Amino acid sequence: MSKSDVGSTPPMYDMAIIGAGLAGSLCAHLLSEPDISLCIIDKSRGSGGRASSKRLDDGTSCDLGAPFIHAKQEETRNLLETLTKQQVTAHWPQLNTNEAQAFVGTPKMSAITRHWIADTDFITNTRVHHLEHHADDHDEQGYWLIRDDKYQPVVRAKKIIIAAPAPQAAAILSTNERLAVLLLRANQACAHYQSQWAMWLETDTCDLSAIIELKDSPIKRMIKDNHKPMRHSDNHDRWVIQANPAWSKQHLDANKEWIAQALLQAFSEETEHRVLKHGEPHRWFLSRFAENRGNNDFAWAPEHNIGLAGDWLCQGDAEGALLSAIALTNRIKGHDL
Ligand SMILES: Cc1cc2nc3c(=O)[nH]c(=O)nc-3n(C[C@H](O)[C@H](O)[C@H](O)COP(=O)(O)OP(=O)(O)OC[C@H]3O[C@@H](n4cnc5c(N)ncnc54)[C@H](O)[C@@H]3O)c2cc1C
Repeated sequence: MSKSDVGSTPPMYDMAIIGAGLAGSLCAHLLSEPDISLCIIDKSRGSGGRASSKRLDDGTSCDLGAPFIHAKQEETRNLLETLTKQQVTAHWPQLNTNEAQAFVGTPKMSAITRHWIADTDFITNTRVHHLEHHADDHDEQGYWLIRDDKYQPVVRAKKIIIAAPAPQAAAILSTNERLAVLLLRANQACAHYQSQWAMWLETDTCDLSAIIELKDSPIKRMIKDNHKPMRHSDNHDRWVIQANPAWSKQHLDANKEWIAQALLQAFSEETEHRVLKHGEPHRWFLSRFAENRGNNDFAWAPEHNIGLAGDWLCQGDAEGALLSAIALTNRIKGHDL
């Protein structure tokens, strides 16, 4: 569904979810019931958020965001085992640790969110900007009108989940004074984000390990994307290079060509492999949430019918985004949708 399908009287949903990353997409999946109308809205072209994938010219893709999900908790392991049976994810045993099992999306990370929202009305390319509360003769709690960044109405909804990073959630919450408590929660989390440059490149096939962590380099981590299970593999290796967050912060506004050259040089110095091809660096303004003290897994304001989910409310990682969605949807389902 695209924004142009939305007519002048915006459709009414029981639940609207803002953000189609891991948290929002799992909320959509877990709340989906035949008698509940639900939509999910994202500012991007597709789903996945920071666990999305970049489509390349040759029709393949690579994961420029989270390269895998480390499942430490039984709840997330069960969820990802179910997806593995459905061939939406696969184990990446080389990345298992004593505490965590590693899972990747197949054939790319964004397959996970796509699978979860396959049957949900998905409104893309729509940046939510404004929440407006309206009275309703048939429902004492009224409903919310969601407007985009051009102040155009998008949908009406009885309940809303905001599953966006804290600064983006705060921007939306700040448009309605009823939401001051949730806004405070999001605002308090805003200071704890890291930024990170990332890019892909290709070399001849080599026997370096699938993931290499570096110290004292502009590069933090190098991941062999084609080493992941069920990925394409021909006569070259495709790497995703994640820059060091401190280095990224220092060079956040540098031009992309300079960033690419600096990362390529660091890669060559480290591996002594010739780079055959590379993509443009991608700047993740909000890459990782680097603090997780004193937060609950989610927020739900029953008096306003608005909730918050996302990695920043739980663990600050991909698994945390899933746990947050599970906790919030359990809370909502426990008090009828
Ligand atoms: C380079 C990189 C490497 C990473 N590595 C790892 C790793 O090794 N392990 C790990 O566990 N995690 C890793 N992560 C973090 C992991 O990707 C995140 O923790 C997780 O994906 C967060 O999911 P989320 O649903 O909470 O948020 P997001 O994925 O950010 O989803 C939020 C969604 O909301 C949308 N949105 C925001 N504002 C609006 C708006 N106003 N209107 C409409 N839509 C909006 C966004 O477009 C996005 O799709 C990495 C992230 C990056 C960027």
